[in-house]
Amino acid sequence: MPRPLTGEPLALDLVDTIWIDQGQDFDQFDEPDGLESWLTEHALPVPPEGPEVVRAHLTTARDAVRTALEQGDERPLNAVLAHGSRRPLLRDGEPAAEVVVDDPAWTPAWIAAADLVRLLGERRERVRKCANPACVLWFYDLTKNGSRRWCSMAVCGNRTKTARFQQSHRRP
Ligand SMILES: [Zn+2]
Repeated sequence: MPRPLTGEPLALDLVDTIWIDQGQDFDQFDEPDGLESWLTEHALPVPPEGPEVVRAHLTTARDAVRTALEQGDERPLNAVLAHGSRRPLLRDGEPAAEVVVDDPAWTPAWIAAADLVRLLGERRERVRKCANPACVLWFYDLTKNGSRRWCSMAVCGNRTKTARFQQSHRRP
C-alpha cells in the first residue's frame, strides 16, 4: 500500500513515514526510492553521494521525535539537535538563517527535529495522535476550533464510524 499523503509539517510527516495498514507495518524508507522521494518532497538536500548517507541519522531523528511525542522523553531529540544550530544572516538585505551541522549527513535529520520544537512552541496542544487506536499517525490540527480527531477523515474517520455503526446495528 502506498503511503498516505499527510500534508503534515515536516517533523510529523517524518514520524508518519511509518504507518500501519490492516495490521501490517509499512516504512516509507524501505520502499524503492522511498528515502530520496521523501527528501525531495520536503525540499531537503539529497547529498551528492546519494540519499543513503542520511538514512541512519534520519531514522534516529524519527525515533527521537516519536519518543518525545509518545513518551515525553526529550533526551534523544536534544541529542539530535546538539549536532547543529541555526545561524542568522542577511541575504540581499533580508533577515535569513542557515542550518549549520557538524556533519552534512545530519542536515535533514536536524531540520526535521528542529521542526518539532517549532511546532511545540507554536501550538503544543494542536500536535496530536490520530484518535483511531489502531493508527500510529500524528497530525497538526489547524482547524479553527481544534476539533480534528483523525489523521485522515477518509481513512481513519470513516473506518471508525463504520466500525461503530456495525457494532450498534449488530443483531442481539
Ligand atoms: Zn489515523
